Amino acid sequence: MSRLDHFIARMVSQRACLDHAAALIADVPGPVFELGLGNGRTYDHMREIMPERDIYVFERAVASHPSSTPPDDRLLLGDVFDTLPAALGRFGPTAALVHADLGGHDPKKNDAFARAISPLVEPLLAPGGIMVASDRMYFDSLTELALPDGAIPDRCFIYRR
Ligand code: SAM
Repeated sequence: MSRLDHFIARMVSQRACLDHAAALIADVPGPVFELGLGNGRTYDHMREIMPERDIYVFERAVASHPSSTPPDDRLLLGDVFDTLPAALGRFGPTAALVHADLGGHDPKKNDAFARAISPLVEPLLAPGGIMVASDRMYFDSLTELALPDGAIPDRCFIYRR
């Protein structure tokens, strides 16, 4: 698989999984968390498919397209190893959806990072809440769900509390 194929597979899978997750949480109240703003493409898509939700964005350094930059009061600026524990104190276990796209180009580093943040993400989810991740996560109490049509195995993962 070329790097272009790999990139396209990730984009297509993110869209399919986010659309699926938005439907799954239709009856689950609570905020939505975007971990890793990047260019803001997935944030923009989440705003479009969940216009009624409060979407909070976790990012250490904002470098997004101006049209896809969250307002200051929805931005949790800093390293997720600091901001995720702080969010648990602020929000409790209320998140209807957490989407994580924090990785880079090194699969081993991404896996180590996913292992490290899994215990910080897990307690944030509300009962019935959904986690969508670009890397396999390591949860004790969440159930991995089948991918929706259009998502490519190993490019996206979905979990439910
Ligand atoms: N989903 C985004 C989009 O559609 O444009 C792309 C996200 S990009 C792959 C990953 C982002 O995660 C980067 O902006 C990076 O700064 C952020 N990030 C990585 N590690 C982080 C950390 N430890 N704390 C906070 N943000 C982090």
